[in-house]
Amino acid sequence: MKPFAKIEADDLRFFEALMPGRVLAAGAFADDYDHDEMTEYGHYMPDAVLLAETTDEISRLMAYCNEHNIPVTPRGAGTGLCGGCVATEGGVLLSTERMKRVLEVDVRNMTATVEPGVLLMEFPKALEGTGLFYPPDPGEKSATMGGNAMTNAGGMRAVRYGVTRDYVLGMEVVLPSGEVTNLGGKIVKNASGYSLLDLMIGSEGNQRLLHIRHVAHN
Ligand SMILES: Cc1cc2nc3c(=O)[nH]c(=O)nc-3n(C[C@H](O)[C@H](O)[C@H](O)COP(=O)(O)OP(=O)(O)OC[C@H]3O[C@@H](n4cnc5c(N)ncnc54)[C@H](O)[C@@H]3O)c2cc1C
Repeated sequence: MKPFAKIEADDLRFFEALMPGRVLAAGAFADDYDHDEMTEYGHYMPDAVLLAETTDEISRLMAYCNEHNIPVTPRGAGTGLCGGCVATEGGVLLSTERMKRVLEVDVRNMTATVEPGVLLMEFPKALEGTGLFYPPDPGEKSATMGGNAMTNAGGMRAVRYGVTRDYVLGMEVVLPSGEVTNLGGKIVKNASGYSLLDLMIGSEGNQRLLHIRHVAHN
């Protein structure tokens, strides 16, 4: 495999134009970003931390990094236990921490559409007064909904209600090429064809898929 490229000044200029004020170059970010909650796997500094806010930004970033052979590691809250969000190859650490909006709670359809950086502990607030309940309850509440989906997080309620996979109906996914694709949707009966959604959920460490916006159902 061709070795990954190091980030150069030109790359940083491109990133800054794409995400103004949200590019943290080496030395400008805390060492929190060099590990997850299982520090036994070691500490690896990315060359830059990028704080994305939109799908379009991520799409254009991925297209660029793909073309220039720059590694990109997605990161939610960094609470994982497998080193999946750690930039072991350097390059870009792409954080979803700014993507914290609950875009819709559709009470009639019993679905919610969220950006990936919504924290598990924040999400129930968006459901208050609706009568809806999101069952997945892994122990770490400061994790993101995106991280929960990519690790297919479980928790004690899994015994009765199932795991995160059982509550994700749809995803917007940015592929490594930068192409944006939508898998599944807001309907429970989505029965035709292969379940590509299930290739994404729980895929931690096996690919470099980026932004997801996932639809959860009650
Ligand atoms: C104290 C503690 C208790 C826990 N208890 C449980 C438990 O009871 N049950 C259980 O199943 N798990 C448990 N976990 C693990 C938990 O599921 C993960 O920590 C959590 O899901 C990771 O979420 P995160 O936002 O921190 O993701 P990160 O750690 O930042 O990332 C995790 C993985 O997801 C990828 N990723 C993150 N966001 C995206 C995105 N938007 N698009 C694509 N990829 C993305 C990262 O690249 C990485 O591979 C626990 C963890 C801790 C620390």
